[in-house]
Amino acid sequence: MIKILSGKEIAEAIKHEVAEEVKKMPTPPCLHVIRVGDDQASAVYVSNKIKSACEVGIISHHTHLPATITQVDLLEKIRQLNEDESVDGILVQLPLPSHISEEVVLESIHPEKDVDGFNPINAGRLFQGKQTLPPCTPAGVIEMLKRYGIVIEGKKAVVVGRSNIVGKPMAMMLLQENATVTICHSRTTNLQEITNQADILVAAIGKAGFIRSDHIKEGAVVIDVGINKVTDESLARELFDEDELDKRLKAIREKGFTLVGDVNPKEAKQKAGFFTPVPGGVGLLTVAMLMKNTLRASNLRRKKSAFNKS
Ligand code: NDP
Repeated sequence: MIKILSGKEIAEAIKHEVAEEVKKMPTPPCLHVIRVGDDQASAVYVSNKIKSACEVGIISHHTHLPATITQVDLLEKIRQLNEDESVDGILVQLPLPSHISEEVVLESIHPEKDVDGFNPINAGRLFQGKQTLPPCTPAGVIEMLKRYGIVIEGKKAVVVGRSNIVGKPMAMMLLQENATVTICHSRTTNLQEITNQADILVAAIGKAGFIRSDHIKEGAVVIDVGINKVTDESLARELFDEDELDKRLKAIREKGFTLVGDVNPKEAKQKAGFFTPVPGGVGLLTVAMLMKNTLRASNLRRKKSAFNKS
C-alpha cells in the first residue's frame, strides 16, 4: 500500500518551529527579496515567500526592479544589502532577464546572507560536508525523509538531474546522510537500469511525468521535485488516475493548465512504497526551508558579531 508523503504537514511543522525560535529573539531576522522584471511565476513565488515570512514573524522586504535594469545597477543594490547590518538574508528570484548573468549575481550575494544557498562558497562548504546555508529544495527533501522516519543510511539513492540548484546538492546531501548515491542526467545510458536499483529515487528533470513505472523499483521511495504545467487533456489522462482526473481536467479547462511533477503519478502509485505528490509535496518544503535558512543566517551572524565584540 503506497504512502503519500505530504509536504504540507512537514512544511507547517518547520514553520511552526521557526516561528517559536523567532519569538525568543530580541529582534526578528530580516529577509530581503529582489525580483527583476514581470515574470508571472516569479511574482507568485515571491509573494508566497513574503507571506510565509510574515507567518513566522520574519521581517521581509521586497524590491521589484524593472526588467531593463543593468547588471551593474543590480549588483550595486546587492552590494548595499550585503553591507546593511539589518539584513540577514538576501534572495534574488530566478530567472533573471537574459542580459544579466545569474552566475555573477548569485556570486555577488554575501555567503553569510545567501539564504538560497546558491553561492559557490556555500556550495563548496556543502560539498566538503561543512556547516552551510544549504539550497532549500534538496534540504526540504532531506527534512521530509527524516521526519517521515525513512532511513537514508546505507540505501541506494539515485538522483535524476544534475543542476546546481537541485540535482547536485541533493546528491551531496544524500551522501552526507550515508546513502550510496548515483547521479543521472540527459547523457546517462540505460537510465532505467540504474533507477530500477534505487531504494530512494529523486526526480529533478523538468519533464512532465518522465519517470514511469519501468524506472521504479517495487516499494521504492520516490521523491518528485519537478513542477511542470500540463495543458493537454490527453496527456492528463495518461498521468492521473480516476480519483484525480476530473479535478485535473477541470483545472485545465478553467485555468488552462494543471501541475504535474517529473514522475507519472498514476504509475508511481502502483509501484512505489512512498511518493510525494505534485502539488503538495516538495514545493511547499522549499519555502519552509527558506524560513529556516533565514533564521540560521541570522543566528550565525549574531553569534559572529557577539564573538567579534568579545
Ligand atoms: P534543470 O533544467 O536545470 O536541470 C534538469 C536536469 O535534468 C539536467 O541535469 C538534465 O541533464 C536532466 N535531464 C533532462 N532530460 C533528461 C533525461 N531525458 N534523462 C535524464 N536526465 C535528464 O532543472 P532544475 O534542476 O532547475 O529543476 C528540475 C525540476 O525541478 C523542474 O521541473 C523545476 O521546475 C523543479 N523545481 C522545483 C522546485 C521546488 O520547489 N519543488 C525548485 C526548483 C526546481 P543535463 O545536465 O545533461 O542537461
